[in-house]
Amino acid sequence: MRELKFKAPVGKEGLYVLNTSTWRSKRPVMDKEKCVECGLCLVYCPVFSIKRDENKSYYICYDFCKGCGLCARECPQGAIAMVMEGEDVK
Ligand code: SF4
Ligand code: SF4
Repeated sequence: MRELKFKAPVGKEGLYVLNTSTWRSKRPVMDKEKCVECGLCLVYCPVFSIKRDENKSYYICYDFCKGCGLCARECPQGAIAMVMEGEDVK
């Protein structure tokens, strides 16, 4: 069963958002040593899971990341690796 997360009281029924993080079998892991802060991963992520911190540095928020791998595929530096959930980066 798909998990629905209540987000905001919009309209009669309210607005519900799928918790897409439950779809994830692999998760993206960013190597900050390789990242050149180009922002392409943020542009390509379909669920806005790439964020910027107070230092304007990019990071991955896992709340809604669905593990699609687009960010890893598009990163020109190869700075994002997809790893199995529950496994450490090698
Ligand atoms: S696409 Fe790659 S190099 Fe560019 S900000 Fe994202 S992780 Fe860093
Ligand atoms: S794996 Fe997909 S959903 Fe997750 S941060 Fe990358 S592009 Fe976004």
